[in-house]
Amino acid sequence: MGSSLTLFRLFGIEVRVHWSFLLILAYGAFFYSNSQLGQIGGALFGVLTILLLFVCVTLHEFGHALVAKSYHVAVEHITLLPIGGVASLERIPENPLQEFNIAIAGPLVNFAIVLILLPLRLLMTGEPFWPGFSTLMQQMQEPTVSGIVTFLIMTNLTLGAFNLLPAFPMDGGRVLRALLAMTMPYVRATNIAVLVGRLMAGLLFLWGIFGGGVFLMLIAFFVYVGGGSERHAVASRHVLRDVQARDALTPQAEKLYTSEKISRAVDLIMASYQTDYPVFDLSNNYVGVLTRARLVDALKTVGPDGRIPDAMIAARHIPECTPTTNLADLWDTMLQSGMRVAAVKDEGQFLGLITIDDVTELFQVIGARLDGEYRRHDADPQDLSGNKPSNTPTSSRQSSGDA
Ligand SMILES: [Zn+2]
Repeated sequence: MGSSLTLFRLFGIEVRVHWSFLLILAYGAFFYSNSQLGQIGGALFGVLTILLLFVCVTLHEFGHALVAKSYHVAVEHITLLPIGGVASLERIPENPLQEFNIAIAGPLVNFAIVLILLPLRLLMTGEPFWPGFSTLMQQMQEPTVSGIVTFLIMTNLTLGAFNLLPAFPMDGGRVLRALLAMTMPYVRATNIAVLVGRLMAGLLFLWGIFGGGVFLMLIAFFVYVGGGSERHAVASRHVLRDVQARDALTPQAEKLYTSEKISRAVDLIMASYQTDYPVFDLSNNYVGVLTRARLVDALKTVGPDGRIPDAMIAARHIPECTPTTNLADLWDTMLQSGMRVAAVKDEGQFLGLITIDDVTELFQVIGARLDGEYRRHDADPQDLSGNKPSNTPTSSRQSSGDA
């Protein structure tokens, strides 16, 4: 989302809007420009209507975001797209009750808005509280204040209901997975929820063909793909969680000393596949890491006769873990710190380095099962038989997407 504009910050969450959002504003202006308000008045009315609709979309995302924050899940930003909003959660809790509450909060916000606007409409029009769908459908197109209120009632009802469809990446998919995960393992719950989502996608697609239109078919496609990436993300976390940091350490890793020159690192890198080196001082204390990127930089600036301490990253900047930390958590730590390397320490004693590449490689060795065994049963983590190097771990960084 490189082309987004930050609108404001609320509760520490940045609200951004994607440039293509302008298209839907233009559509709103165009749609109402032929109304009895005249071209300019109608266009302004259309823009106002769309803006109010997106206030509701933003509130829906804040519903997810604030419940997530209450579980100490960081929320970086909310991005508004023409098709809806996305709240970027740092992670989705695997506690089913927490996931359920985060997922359901968005649609509940839409239904709450409906419950506030219905009495407001009653006061404004004097008509029955619920005059029926067809009346509301007609009134929502009127360029009046009560028309806007009716429009917002209908769109919020639609948004709430649509997002509750039990299909990833819709909120309803997460709600279903959370409910299933209360009675069965998380991976199996995900697989069932994805399967239900694909059935929904199939039905939506058929509905699209037989009169629902191209938009429904697009959503069906979106749901089908979204389910697959969710299954992959969950399964890859599941694999990585069963591997401990000590199992990912390279047994005979080379190391460097603070007394050595950069040329020594060049020699090592030429002679081995190792790209990142722990650095020790003369008392054999671990003091830092020389990464390949730093080495390349140092060769350009100080040359091969430069000293290792001038090129290395100090140990205090390198994330650390224990031998029993699982790789899924370690992966998150590395992503959060922005470092592609972490130090494994046991009660202060340095054991070795693990790089993002090590994790990826390990994952590729065991990852093949994702496409095979996971569909049939929960795989035995000790069996490292797969060797199809096609998968990479998927970040646990996830988004709650809404159409
Ligand atoms: Zn949502």
